[in-house]
Amino acid sequence: KPQLLDDEEGGVLFFSSALSSSSSSYGYASLEKQRQRLPVYKYRNSILYLVETHSTSIVVGETGSGKTTQIPQYLKEAGWADGGRVIACTQPRRLAVQAVASRVAEEMGVKLGDEVGYTIRFEDLTNSELTRIKFLTDGVLLREMMTDPLLSKYSVIMVDEAHERSISTDILLGLLKKIQRRRPELRLIIASATIEAKSMAAFFDTSKKRRGSDDKQHGPKTEPAILSVEGRGFNVQVFYAEEPVPDYLRAAVSTVMSIHNQEPPGDILVFLTGQDDIDAAVELLTEESQNNGKPSGGLTILPLYSGLSRADQDLVFSPTPRGKRKVVISTNIAETSLTLEGVVYVVDSGFSKQRFYNPITDVENLIVAPISKASARQRAGRAGRVRPGKCYRLYTEEYYVNELSTEGIPEIQRTSLVSSVIQLKALGIDNILGFDWPASPSPEAMIRALEVLYSLGVIDDDAKLTSPAGFQIAEIPLEPMISKMILASDELGCSEEILTIASVLSIQSIWASSRGSQKELDEAKMRFAAAEGDHVTFLNVYKGFLKCNKSPTWCHKNFVNYQAMKKVIEVRGQLRRTAQRIGINLKSCDGDTQVVRKAVTAGYFANACRLEAFSHSGMYKTLRGSQEVYIHPSSILFRVNPKWIIFHSLVSTDRQYMRNVITIDPSWLTEAAPHFYQHRQPDSFRQ
Ligand code: ADP
Ligand code: MG
Repeated sequence: KPQLLDDEEGGVLFFSSALSSSSSSYGYASLEKQRQRLPVYKYRNSILYLVETHSTSIVVGETGSGKTTQIPQYLKEAGWADGGRVIACTQPRRLAVQAVASRVAEEMGVKLGDEVGYTIRFEDLTNSELTRIKFLTDGVLLREMMTDPLLSKYSVIMVDEAHERSISTDILLGLLKKIQRRRPELRLIIASATIEAKSMAAFFDTSKKRRGSDDKQHGPKTEPAILSVEGRGFNVQVFYAEEPVPDYLRAAVSTVMSIHNQEPPGDILVFLTGQDDIDAAVELLTEESQNNGKPSGGLTILPLYSGLSRADQDLVFSPTPRGKRKVVISTNIAETSLTLEGVVYVVDSGFSKQRFYNPITDVENLIVAPISKASARQRAGRAGRVRPGKCYRLYTEEYYVNELSTEGIPEIQRTSLVSSVIQLKALGIDNILGFDWPASPSPEAMIRALEVLYSLGVIDDDAKLTSPAGFQIAEIPLEPMISKMILASDELGCSEEILTIASVLSIQSIWASSRGSQKELDEAKMRFAAAEGDHVTFLNVYKGFLKCNKSPTWCHKNFVNYQAMKKVIEVRGQLRRTAQRIGINLKSCDGDTQVVRKAVTAGYFANACRLEAFSHSGMYKTLRGSQEVYIHPSSILFRVNPKWIIFHSLVSTDRQYMRNVITIDPSWLTEAAPHFYQHRQPDSFRQ
């Protein structure tokens, strides 16, 4: 096979002592050579031609073929960034934005943040003078429309990973279609790994409606072009579990160990679901590999999930040292967003974390749920990047055939629409139901969103944004409930405290949860514990962190995650500036926790719960939907079980668990949201 030969000679194989020892040119091909070897390179001229002649081009190509890193560079080389214009490339995931931007900067030999930059929420590494290629999340591009509705500085916008159907991607596509009508010179590229290119093309095809006028006009064709990049994936042999696996985490670890002990060199990529199980697997695997008879274990074990520090991200991409085998344990970010070069073995748990929303109960949940067949195929494909590979599925073939759905459900159909509705309103789109969505959200979810926004005081009786509150809330790049909390803190005189709480809540966890025993962690938490709940506890941790001069040693001693706290400080700084811009007075309440809790109530009244009378199991019911919920063991109020609480979010495993809870007085609820609670039976409020 000529392709295999190609790999052997050029040494794009980062890992393989067996293959490269026969080759005298071990090491890396120059970056330029690597670029030219990518499948997309053969299509360079076709892509440029299509972009030149069509308003919208759809590029479909297997993961790793070079779409994300190469196309923006081709465009720049062809002059699309001349005259101060900027080429944008969106990604649904923040980590992917950072990783591809740094790769492209490296390939172009420029400093990240100059000619090539990126922007994600709370982090802007671009230069308004210099940046020509800009990577950003789809959510950030949506926000940019609030200040520049026609996105006028961009010449080409590449909406990448469109197959993911993230809610922001879908909304963005709807809005870009509108923008194109006003700015015919704007070019769109929709890129994806697998996509129903035809339905996407139909969505963007406006030529039929304006037949006759189109052909004679100058300028690009409005009918979208479709281009398919032929990949060069190698065969991947798929193995299934013979029996259903009771514990996918342990099964993953033992599968990795048996690959390591029995299979020839090649890196291993394991798909788990989130930080919790990935950290646990890293720990377990580290233990097992140390007990494994082989000298030095031979494994380099690395986690990959969003929220990882830049240094840890870089480790994942760095070449595996000779004689070592790299194991990367990842969320589904490595499914299509990022390509790891030396992977030959894939272990697929069959699960990922997915958001699900029930508009009837108004409860949004992050659930570990089965992936789709399309995802399973993508995951397997990661093993065939450099040579024929193997994929081990930790589920039975029967399960794959009968239980996995063909495609995933677009996020817009399984998430709360509160944030999206407010964004569209802020962009002046008032007829939300009539908006041109690539996939329609459910009417129930839409009505719920409008109801919540009305109760928050964001929209008025005519469903228009209120002034100033609605506009102020739309301006803050956080969930409207958090933004409302910040707004309320202004009146209550505790904005400094609420900004801290909002920052902590936007970070996954500030505890060093993967270190030491649960008991030690619990004891450490007790040093900061506040009877009022987690939010107030966060204030204590933050105070401690400032008092010790942001010392890593202090963090280590107290089981506080130093990286997370540094991020909190950064986010807080940004939020503080936004707050000042929209006219919020910065003020501290000096330890008055009642006003703090009232401010939280002002945003999160919809998440109020009451402890069931005579319940010794700690069962709560939500006031609004009578959902059964329990305090999460990670909460400071776990086992304390105060009567009235508000939770920040829910996670469900065997039960619905409330993460981050705070005590309240029920009378604050009717005060904060009279409309929302007016129809409640008086007895639900009885003390
Ligand atoms: P696609 O978008 O089609 O999935 P990419 O443009 O992301 O493909 O990747 C093309 C190539 O660039 C891959 O071989 C990948 O390994 C390499 N690459 C991308 N990002 C990085 C990175 N941060 N470090 C090293 N290599 C990278
Ligand atoms: Mg890509």
